[in-house]
Amino acid sequence: MRLESTPAIVLRTREYGESDKIVTVLSRTAGKFSGIAKGAKRSQRRFPGTLEIFSHVTLDYRRRPHAELAFLDRAVLVHPWPRILGSLERFAAASHVVEIADKLTAESEVGDDLYALAVAALSRIDASEPGPATLRLFELAALTASGYRPELVVCVVCRHAVGDERGPVRLVPPLGGVLCSGCRTRDEGGMLLSPAALECLGLLQRAVARAVAARRYGNGNGATLDPFADEDEASRLLAPRVAREVAASLDLILTPHLRGRLRSLELLGPVLASGFSPEREPE
Ligand SMILES: [Zn+2]
Repeated sequence: MRLESTPAIVLRTREYGESDKIVTVLSRTAGKFSGIAKGAKRSQRRFPGTLEIFSHVTLDYRRRPHAELAFLDRAVLVHPWPRILGSLERFAAASHVVEIADKLTAESEVGDDLYALAVAALSRIDASEPGPATLRLFELAALTASGYRPELVVCVVCRHAVGDERGPVRLVPPLGGVLCSGCRTRDEGGMLLSPAALECLGLLQRAVARAVAARRYGNGNGATLDPFADEDEASRLLAPRVAREVAASLDLILTPHLRGRLRSLELLGPVLASGFSPEREPE
């Protein structure tokens, strides 16, 4: 087995036997995979506290073709996130990021956009407290990076911009996005969107499109997929009621693509929701 090396984010770990760990990572060059770190709990030289959730590491590993588990040789920290572990809000937001990255991908699905986005999101959450738009931008960018980009700016049937619609617009995830008032009928399911939520979703979609273009055409830092430059503008649109509506609409789009339910929402929802409390939100 050849020794390979890749930058990676640790998505989850579990103890195995007396001294080993099984670790699942999202890597830049080999997608998501799991590996066993023999003696991980003892070896400070090969794994100096680096096999923990959120760790951004350079991972040396060996893998037999089609084997379920790789053998992890060494993990060296690329970048520490000192503030993520020091605040419950940041920890909750970072947990949401790695859980979505994990549940959107199958093992060994190759493509480095989601890795580049996860690095940008953890870096953003480490830099300052997550705002009301942080996770929404991440969710929409994660969908886009995984090939599930929804259409939130024009009607999926007639292709007219929905921004200046007079009547209610409906989000219908199985159709891939929004239906204008002219094209919608009564029984498509999904949810109606208020003009304010629609305006915010459009802004989020344009922010994600700019980040994808910057990465693709080299205007930005090619190592990351960073949609957070327009975050302040999106946050201003997210009064508490709109924030809940936008969160619900992204949840509706995301859920069918996830492998399993999101535990971060159940466990940490109250912490994340406190970020949208009326006292803190400018109206
Ligand atoms: Zn239409």
